[in-house]
Amino acid sequence: MTMSDAEIALEIKIKKAYRAFNRRVKTDEDALDVIYKKLKKLHRIGCQCGCTDVVRKKGARSFVCSDCKEETHFTVGTVYEGKVRIRAMLGAIHLSERNLPVTSSKLSKLFKIGYGTAHNILLNQGILINKSMPSSALALTGKGLQSIIFRRSSETPIRRHPVAEQEEVEKELFETTASTNESSKGSNKDTDSTNELELNLTDDQKRVLKALSETSQSVDDLCIITELPAGAVSSALVFLHLDNLVDELPGGRYTRKAPVKQSSMASRFAQNLEALNISLNAFIAFIELTSKGVSRKCLQLYLSQFWYHLDKTFWQKGALSLLYLNNPSPSPMAVRNYVSPNLLRLPAFSL
Ligand SMILES: [Zn+2]
Repeated sequence: MTMSDAEIALEIKIKKAYRAFNRRVKTDEDALDVIYKKLKKLHRIGCQCGCTDVVRKKGARSFVCSDCKEETHFTVGTVYEGKVRIRAMLGAIHLSERNLPVTSSKLSKLFKIGYGTAHNILLNQGILINKSMPSSALALTGKGLQSIIFRRSSETPIRRHPVAEQEEVEKELFETTASTNESSKGSNKDTDSTNELELNLTDDQKRVLKALSETSQSVDDLCIITELPAGAVSSALVFLHLDNLVDELPGGRYTRKAPVKQSSMASRFAQNLEALNISLNAFIAFIELTSKGVSRKCLQLYLSQFWYHLDKTFWQKGALSLLYLNNPSPSPMAVRNYVSPNLLRLPAFSL
């Protein structure tokens, strides 16, 4: 396979960055030293007894308190806890933080580790980054991404092309939408989602909500209509507000929130669509440059990687390395069984 100029340029940069990393971190013990130093800088090294005067042998995973002689494993609570390939994990972060995305096979060759281990390291990274995604991220179905889905996964239907995974998802999404439309045909109200929420309301909350028309009411008005004491009305309002069912207006008046209509959702979607199209084209180019093709199963994690590499307002230098120190590792089961959701997510950011 011939490589494009961009691919060759990336390859050279990765090798150069690897050599720089390798000069500093040659072994897993060196990697533990780096992590220890980082934690120390963050004032996170200390014994449970309160003593910060500790003794640690170079390359060790633990330190010993000079006062009570207790031994503490300092990787506990970080992603590195219980992990063996610390150097490769650190190396993957080193490359990512220099904006050099690597594939599992690249990581496996560079760090002389098995392909499975390398794949796991990158899955872990993807899951961690994905967890940091703001709730405002845009939802997408994966339509338009068929061209880059050509890796098999455990989710790929037998004897079919990997893109069949995406086709199955679209079919499922279409069926869900169709059945939702079908069920809302029966009722002439478009408050399906609101009704669903109402099921979890207390009797007081239901009475208050019923009393609230779309013209505003004061707590006193509501007390009269519902025949509830002011305390009960106020407390019901707090919960209804949390459930996003009522709006508080100036002057202590309340109004019932208009249900979100399908049409306003559609227009919001259309507004995002243009921004999204630009991002998706960039994402396809990113995949073509870095890993050629992906599986539908891992698509969300690649979207996360893409977001990480481009949104430098969110992902400032050092943020990824800090994420590893501040979070426990996703469980091996969660990593092994990871499957991208039907509706994928990508935060809006400017390229
Ligand atoms: Zn101690």
